[in-house]
Amino acid sequence: MAVAKTTKKPAAKAKKPVAAPKKVVAKAKPVAAKKVAPPKAVKKTAATAPKAVKKAVAATPKATKPKSVPAAAKSAQVKAMPGAYSLVLKGARVIDPASGLDAVRDVAISNGTIAAIAESITAPRGTKVMDLKGKVLTPGLIDTHAHIYEHVTGDFGLNADLVGMRGGVTTVVDQGGPSALTIGGFQQYVVQPSSSRVLCFISTYLAGGLLGHRYVDLYGPTGINVDAIVKAARENPGLVRGIKAHAEPGGFSRWGVESLKLATKAGKELGLPVYVHLGTLWPVAAGKTVDAQDIIKEVVPLLSPGDILAHPFTRYPSGFVNQDGSIHPLVYEALARGVKIDVGRGAHFSFDNAKAVIGAGILPDTLGADLHGYNIKFPDGGRWYRGMFTDTQEMEPPEGPAEALPPFSTPYGLHHTMSELLALGVPLPKLVAMCTSNAAAMLGMSDTLGALRVGQPADISVFKVLEGEWKLLDSNGVSVTAKQLLHPVMAMRGTLMQMSDSPLLPDVTDMAA
Ligand SMILES: [Zn+2]
Repeated sequence: MAVAKTTKKPAAKAKKPVAAPKKVVAKAKPVAAKKVAPPKAVKKTAATAPKAVKKAVAATPKATKPKSVPAAAKSAQVKAMPGAYSLVLKGARVIDPASGLDAVRDVAISNGTIAAIAESITAPRGTKVMDLKGKVLTPGLIDTHAHIYEHVTGDFGLNADLVGMRGGVTTVVDQGGPSALTIGGFQQYVVQPSSSRVLCFISTYLAGGLLGHRYVDLYGPTGINVDAIVKAARENPGLVRGIKAHAEPGGFSRWGVESLKLATKAGKELGLPVYVHLGTLWPVAAGKTVDAQDIIKEVVPLLSPGDILAHPFTRYPSGFVNQDGSIHPLVYEALARGVKIDVGRGAHFSFDNAKAVIGAGILPDTLGADLHGYNIKFPDGGRWYRGMFTDTQEMEPPEGPAEALPPFSTPYGLHHTMSELLALGVPLPKLVAMCTSNAAAMLGMSDTLGALRVGQPADISVFKVLEGEWKLLDSNGVSVTAKQLLHPVMAMRGTLMQMSDSPLLPDVTDMAA
């Protein structure tokens, strides 16, 4: 079980464990990374911070309560007994949307468990202390959309820890890589060896996400077996958190919404959400035409509360935004039904459509980055991929001379996706909620994930907010100027502390405006 292994995850498994708190080494060079943002003005309103902290500290459960937590932990100023804490994280802006906390706080860790959160924790001599002044500390970030079935999905599948722990993200959710036929390998070769917590939405199709769903003929109703999905999900209850399906013109031109009907049948039987990809993936069948606006009409009535529509900002037809720039009216009906929205940034992201959707008052619930091998620029030169396949199953080639075009996607990650929405005016605490408490709710794991709770295993992300000027590019090459850029510093799971060193992370100097 993916979740149960949290406790037995030894530091030795980490690729780059960092035992002692050492100076945080930013990937950013000082050229663009002008300075680390000072902690935001902290509001200590009675309604938020102090109350939340008091509650969190008082809520220490008996079973997991570290014996050494001193009574003083209940007050704003904590003076710890020698040996009480193994680590104190000092002075970060702590944003914990689940409890409403947004204030400068110290966080004490005792043998991999959060032991105290208080305004000031005085650590006795000998306790490891990490100075996080100017940085932001949150519950471990959750990336709700990634493709990490390495090797089995070919170049499409990334290494889980490069997306996860080494990218400052503690939990990574694979969307549709493993299937009923291949989930055993996912459990054995991805979930078990990773230092990140790995979960999945199991593929609707027996083929799973091979080569990023390149061969369209594998994805019709004949390649779907509801009983097999149900059986695989029941055999892997901690791992399978939902079902991944598609509703886009290529599949629609061949099978209508039949595949999605089968996915929702399995979802209902399991009581798990269905995650629906919107926006072109496969070419429309020869001789057929599809009115993209018709797809969502057939999709919405199939959805139940808690099901998820993905890629709301897609630059392809069949998303939330009609060709004339208006929002599809059925999007509002979907929201009224309790359907959730995941950004699924990936190959789809359009600033123009994001502005249209957010401008219409629709804010996604979660923020999957949708990282995969086709949209990450590898150190050896990168790839061209425009988010869909041609009818020969090739990736859609770029138009025009390569040097005249922006790369399909500049390197990015979950933090970068947060920066993009920050640049569009979404407040930071909302973005943190999307990647923590909201994501945990989507996974049905609010009790154990997505919040900072005294007595629970440490599951923490730390990032910095760089101040300067950056040019953020979407998948169409449209740019937005950002004054702030989030960049990961580290991730913690239990006793494992991992500095952010993933080679997939963007080099912020490349984006300097
Ligand atoms: Zn995806």
